[in-house]
Amino acid sequence: MNSTHSNFSKHSPFSSWFNAQPNKHPQQRFGGVALPDNLIYLDHAASTPLDSRILECMTPWMTTIYGNPANRLHPMGELAEHGLARARQQIAECIGVQFDEVTFCSSATEANNLLLRGLAQHPLRKRNKILISATEHSSILTTADALKGFGIETQILPVDHHGQVDILLAEKLIDENTLAVCAMDANNETGIIQSSLPALASFAHSKGALLHVDAVQGFARAHFHNSTTSFDTATLSAAKIYAGKGAAALIVKKKHPRIRLCPQLTGGGHETGLRSGTPNLPAIIGLAEGMQLQYSERRDRLHYLSHLESIFTSALLGQIDARIAGKDVARVPGILMLQIPNVNAMKLIENTKFICVSAGSACKTLQATTSHVLKAMGQEEEEALSSFRVSIGLPNTEAEMKIAADLIAATALNLRTESAVWSTAKN
Ligand code: PLP
Repeated sequence: MNSTHSNFSKHSPFSSWFNAQPNKHPQQRFGGVALPDNLIYLDHAASTPLDSRILECMTPWMTTIYGNPANRLHPMGELAEHGLARARQQIAECIGVQFDEVTFCSSATEANNLLLRGLAQHPLRKRNKILISATEHSSILTTADALKGFGIETQILPVDHHGQVDILLAEKLIDENTLAVCAMDANNETGIIQSSLPALASFAHSKGALLHVDAVQGFARAHFHNSTTSFDTATLSAAKIYAGKGAAALIVKKKHPRIRLCPQLTGGGHETGLRSGTPNLPAIIGLAEGMQLQYSERRDRLHYLSHLESIFTSALLGQIDARIAGKDVARVPGILMLQIPNVNAMKLIENTKFICVSAGSACKTLQATTSHVLKAMGQEEEEALSSFRVSIGLPNTEAEMKIAADLIAATALNLRTESAVWSTAKN
C-alpha cells in the first residue's frame, strides 16, 4: 500500500462482525468471476454483508427449528410460530408501532407493491389519486404507473435542485380524492433527507389521505423512526442493514378510517390474510435482529459512517473537482452521488474495477438509463452521465476510503486527459 495511506486505519471498529468480507476471501470464484483480493466494496446502499451476530441468530431457524409457523399442531410448528411472533414484536418495538401493524414480505419491492396494488385493488376504495415524489425508487414509480388499469391517476410531485418536494404544489394537489402520498425519507441515490415529510404528512392527513414512506435507506442510516415521522404506512428491508436478503416489512398503521389493502398473494391466509405463503422465518429472524442492532448501535454507526465519508470526500476533492448532489442540504451519512465533470461515470467504473460503486441505483443499472433522481433535480443528461454513487458501510476502513478516493481521482484525471487528446486528434 502507498505510504501516504499508512496514517489511515486498516480496521473498522465493526470489522469483527464481518468476517465474511470479500477481501478476506480472495479465493471466491463463481461463473468465471473471481473477487480480487484488493476489492473495496462501496455499494452498501444496494446490498450489505451479513453481520455474523445476525447469522448466528438465523442459523437455528434453518437447521434445528424448521417447522412451518402456520402448522401449530405440533411443537416444531409451535416453536416456529413463537419465533415469528417474537420477530414481529421486536420490529414493532424497534420502530414504535403495534405488533399487528407489521406484515412480513420478501423484499422492499414486494412491500411497496403490496401497498400500492393493495390500495388500488381494494373493492371498497373510493379515492383514485396517488401522488408520488419524483425521486422515489422504481418499485414505487413503476408500480404506480401500472395502476392506470385500475382507474388510478398518478401525479408526480416535482422536486427542486436540492431534491426537496415542492410543498406549495403538493398542498394544491392533495385533495379529497387523494388515496396516498408517497415520499421516501432518505433517497437511495443521493442520501438526501426529504425535509418536507412533516408538511406532506399534515397535508395528506388534513384531506384523509395516507402518507407512505419508503424507509429502506432512512432506517439503515438511522434517520427513520415512528416518533419522528408521521407516516401511515412504511417499508423496511433487511438487505441494507447487514441482515441478509429475503425479508422486508410493510408497516400499516391501524387508523380510522382503516387502511384497506387487497392481498397480492392469496392462499393459506398467512399474515392475517394480507400475504399468503410460508414465511421465510430465518430471513425474518435476521430482519428483526438486524433492526434491533441498527437501532441500538445507531449513534456509533452514524458517527463512523460520517467519519469515513469525510475522509473520502476530503481526499477526493483535494485531487479533483467533483460535486456532491445535495451537498447543501441534510443527507444521511455514507450515501454520496458524485459527479466528476467531463468524465463518463460508466468508463470510470469500468476502469476502477476493484472499487465497487454504482452508476445510479442498483436496480436501474440493469437498464442503460441515467438517474431519474438527478434529472428530477434539474440536472442535464451530461451531468447525470458523469454521476456515480458511492455508498459506504460499516465494514469499510479509513485506509479503504483513502485508496478509493486516490484511485477514483487518478483514473478520472487520466480519462479526462485521454478524451482531450482524442478530441484534439479528431479536430
Ligand atoms: N426502496 C428503496 C429506497 C431502495 O433503496 C430499494 C433497493 O435498493 C428498494 C426499495 C427495493 O429493494 P429490493 O430490491 O430489495 O426489493
